[in-house]
Amino acid sequence: MATKCEYCQMEGGYGDLIFETDHWMVFLAPSQRYLGTCVVALKSQRKNLSELEDSEWMDFVEIVRKLELTMDRSFKPTLYNWSCFKNATFRNQKPNPEIHWHFIPRYRNKIKFRGTLFEDPDFGYIPQPVEKRLPKNLMKSIMTVIKQNL
Ligand SMILES: [Zn+2]
Repeated sequence: MATKCEYCQMEGGYGDLIFETDHWMVFLAPSQRYLGTCVVALKSQRKNLSELEDSEWMDFVEIVRKLELTMDRSFKPTLYNWSCFKNATFRNQKPNPEIHWHFIPRYRNKIKFRGTLFEDPDFGYIPQPVEKRLPKNLMKSIMTVIKQNL
């Protein structure tokens, strides 16, 4: 990918793989401004959502159910944002879009996880592409909790 998606903060990847299905890969996003943020990336190259095969949509429905349920169990967010932007790649004259969803749990209240306090400073508004990196061991703990609740 030529242009980094500012939302994913990705450099050559979307983060750590949580699980995959036939058509999608689900990653724990490197930036955790909103605890539990994930990226759901389509394995096939498509430009628009209208180009998705039925089987890819069916697969995606299962992921939506699974991820929301998993986060309910893990961190009890107030709501979930799902967004598919594809903006950054189109800054190039020859864009190379990769369909991927940003899955962003949103929190009305502060949440403490493994001694670290997480806030959602933008609650009620669109999530901001502000990078928040966590220590490796904390990312590992988040991954462990998510996998236990899948
Ligand atoms: Zn992205």
